[in-house]
Parts: sequence; structure tokens; C-alpha cells
Amino acid sequence: MTRASQILYEIYESLYSYFGPQNWWPADTPFEVCVGAILTQNANWKNVKKATENLKKKNLLEPFKIYETPVEVLAQIIKPSGFYNIKAKRLKNFVKFLVEKYQGNLDALFSKGLYEAREELFNVKGLGKETVDSILLYAGNLPIFVVDAYTYRILNRHQLMPDETTYDEIQALFMENLPHDPKLFNEFHALLVACGKNFCKKKNPLCTSCPLNHLHTTKIL
Ligand code: SF4
Repeated sequence: MTRASQILYEIYESLYSYFGPQNWWPADTPFEVCVGAILTQNANWKNVKKATENLKKKNLLEPFKIYETPVEVLAQIIKPSGFYNIKAKRLKNFVKFLVEKYQGNLDALFSKGLYEAREELFNVKGLGKETVDSILLYAGNLPIFVVDAYTYRILNRHQLMPDETTYDEIQALFMENLPHDPKLFNEFHALLVACGKNFCKKKNPLCTSCPLNHLHTTKIL
């Protein structure tokens, strides 16, 4: 086992012992995961939940229904998630791709395999790496590690990687040092989010009570 693997497992086990299983992603269907992943950019989860509940109330949380809904109408429905005009366009772009290329069938997209499906999703205007990887992992159960601001902050504060590290470099650290297991990647990402929200806050991190306060501080990237 590499030193990086040891440290990553140490982080995982410390967080899992403290927080327990996170049972992500909080959604009823894989399509709802995709919608949530698009709406959660620059939004807190409570507001994303309000937006998806609005879609459910109007019986619109299905690819063909969103496909047929005018973008201006959609924007008003998802308003609680913030940046609603941009997000409505992104949602429409995603659904247009899904309906026109895969007849609205997510399984058909995911059956292309991780890397082909990832490339196709990158071609959908407005979907960034974190969104695409969240869709692949949490809706498609495909083994890709999702990197977010919490991942960066926690590793960086422990001096495990330099300040200027990129999304791809952080993702490679996890992918090269852990087994490609969607369950592990699912739980690990969710646990890092729990740590970031509860302890490793942007300002005034709560290190004294944090389950990672014993963590080594040696660069692994
Ligand atoms: S809160 Fe402190 S101990 Fe916890 S992960 Fe952040 S920097 Fe580390």
C-alpha cells in the first residue's frame, strides 16, 4: 500500500467512524440525482431541495416533461436554487442531449461506460467536471471520484497537496490510490462534505473537535 493510500484510508476510516454511512445521493431516482447535481452549483442543498420539490409538485421531474417545458417556465419553477435562468438553460441542455440521443434513457447513456459517457456529458454546454462526475457516480454508479471545494480545503489545510492543485490532480490522487469501487467513492465524497460542513468551515475551522485533528501533514500530491 502506498503512503497516499494509507493516508486516504486513514481519512476515510476516521470520518466513517465519526459520521457513519451518509446514504448519498439524497434523491428518489437517478434522473433526480442528475437534476440535483445541475441545480446544486453555487447553491445550498435546502434550496436545491425546494426546487426539485417544485418540479415534483408539477409532475415535471422526468426527461420528456422537462424537454417539453419552455425554459422561461422552468426557470420560475427552479427559482429557489438561485441563478435560475442559467440553471434552467443547463437543465434544458442536459435533457435535450438525453432525450435526443438516448430517448431519455439514462441507463443507455451509462451503458457506454465511464469514459465515453463522461466525454459525452462534457459536450453538454454548462456542465462542469464536478457536475458530470456527480452524475456518473451517484446516478450511474460508475467508479469516478467527485472532487469539490471541501475535498480541496481538507487536503490543503493538512498540507497534503499544494495550493495550486487542479481538479484533475486531486481526482487522480484518489483514483490512483484507492480501488475503483463506486460504493467507496460515493461514501468517501459524502463524508468529506459532512466534515467540511460540520468542521472544516471556510472561516474558523473547528479543528479541536474534528475527527481529522490527528491527521498527518505530509504532502502526498
Ligand atoms: S477542521 Fe481542522 S482538523 Fe478538521 S479537516 Fe479541517 S483543518 Fe483538518
